[in-house]
Amino acid sequence: MDHASRSIAFHPRRLAPEAAIGPPPVSPVAAILELLRSGERFLVCSHARPDGDAVGSMLAMGMLLKQLGKQADLVTADRIPNIHRELPGADEIRTAQTVYGPYDAVILLECDGLERTRLHGLKQFFLINIDHHATGREYGNLNWIDRKVASVGELVYRLVKAAGAKVTPQMATCLYTTVLTDTGGFCYGSTQASTFGFAQELVLAGADPLLIAQKIYFTTPASKLLLLGAALSNLKQEGRLAWMWVTRQDIVRTAATVEDCDGIVNFALCASGVEAAFFLHELPEQRIGVSLRSKGQINVAAIAKRLGGGGHESAAGCTMQGPLDHALATVLAELRPALASLARDTDGKSD
Ligand code: 5GP
Ligand code: MN
Repeated sequence: MDHASRSIAFHPRRLAPEAAIGPPPVSPVAAILELLRSGERFLVCSHARPDGDAVGSMLAMGMLLKQLGKQADLVTADRIPNIHRELPGADEIRTAQTVYGPYDAVILLECDGLERTRLHGLKQFFLINIDHHATGREYGNLNWIDRKVASVGELVYRLVKAAGAKVTPQMATCLYTTVLTDTGGFCYGSTQASTFGFAQELVLAGADPLLIAQKIYFTTPASKLLLLGAALSNLKQEGRLAWMWVTRQDIVRTAATVEDCDGIVNFALCASGVEAAFFLHELPEQRIGVSLRSKGQINVAAIAKRLGGGGHESAAGCTMQGPLDHALATVLAELRPALASLARDTDGKSD
């Protein structure tokens, strides 16, 4: 199959009625559903080190495909984090480095670039890219990037509704996890009125908000609490910027895993007066994991992109070359000027 000749890209802003010439554009939802209905076997995947949006949207997509009578393989490069392992169907997600097929199409959820999957063998298949990142790119044969939604789960939900499929309590639980985690518990700037409308529909369909929140936020292992202690003992604040780090030694001493690093950055961001925060953790082979967060005035996705990563305006990340001191200096060199210009803007406004 000549995939390139079948490539479809959606540019919502360019599809304004006054600009339309010729036949009306096909919506991404209709185009994706047509592909799902005409195929038999699909691969559903997401980014390496999958988070709640990745896991929940993969599982819901798998459930949709099953309802349509299709075969779905769910694959990620890394294992599912403990906090999401009890989601319905989570044990069906397999870890692999290479995928073989045959598949009628691969559905990539939550990946702003193909390399984010860290899976080999994808390029031989027709790629359906469904994403919501600020740094999202049209690398697929069919691309649906909607930066307005708070989670990719919301896009999967639109497919489910358009297909006339049933939103089971199991599917609602997976989808509620996507929106709860990707908004940081309805705290990030991506949270809007429609986010609560989506959450309400899921609760009405059988998602239990209390149980889901408890699994995610109240099951922290002792190793993570000890690692948090190590990070907090390294907390630095400079005006409206705060940062923390943990070394390889801290991770080994606390018996923590890389997974335990997730979310630690928020403890630097939550300090009063802080507008942007970052957290560095030493990985094997002198690589440094970087998490960037903003309360909304600094676009950390743009900074992460310059450092080789990506994400959202308020939550982004990248992996850098060490040593730790070098990575720290590089991130500071990006964030200090951004905060200084923010301070100048604020001063100007108060005049
Ligand atoms: P976290 O700091 O929680 O690991 O990631 C925050 C956000 O940044 C997520 O949306 C995640 O997908 C994105 N992100 C983290 N690391 C990378 C990276 O290395 N590359 C890209 N493109 N995005 C990343
Ligand atoms: Mn997401």
